[in-house]
Amino acid sequence: MKKWYFCKQCGYSCVISGLTQISNRLIGKGSPEMCPNCNIKIAELPIEIVDKYDCFNGLNIFSTDWIESREQYINDYVSQFPEFNKELYKKELSRLKESAERHFQYEEVQKEKYMAKINKEAQKILDKQNCISKCPICGSTNINKITLGSRAAKTAVFGVVGAVDDAGKTYKCGNCGGKF
Ligand SMILES: [Zn+2]
Ligand SMILES: [Zn+2]
Repeated sequence: MKKWYFCKQCGYSCVISGLTQISNRLIGKGSPEMCPNCNIKIAELPIEIVDKYDCFNGLNIFSTDWIESREQYINDYVSQFPEFNKELYKKELSRLKESAERHFQYEEVQKEKYMAKINKEAQKILDKQNCISKCPICGSTNINKITLGSRAAKTAVFGVVGAVDDAGKTYKCGNCGGKF
């Protein structure tokens, strides 16, 4: 069972499942029920609050809507507690900003890694094709390489699947016109 918790001082919120609690205990990590900003025990967030604000209900984290909804939750709910502290809330905001940057950097790195992998696969296929020296249909050595330009464009649009599909057509035979 997942439950939302929050800090009355800074508005920090998080989900704690029974599993998180057990695994934290097993690896000797500190209690997940402490606020990382204020180091005080966090309280369970009432279900009606969780239901009321979309930031707890599947909005993309750090999206504009998520930030707006989260601000609303702070203004409506957390700010009415006597413990609420504007300075600590600012601290929580900068912590969120930092995690947002880490989050987006991570996505960027993943994307680059993925593209590098695709390009490598495509290059492997090209290298294999480059070994062909005569037409497998008529045996002629009068073969022309199909330009890399269109191939690279197709790879960019269709990813590695397009490259594989196109791989059978690296050369055109000048004798019989066959593509292979
Ligand atoms: Zn806090
Ligand atoms: Zn041929």
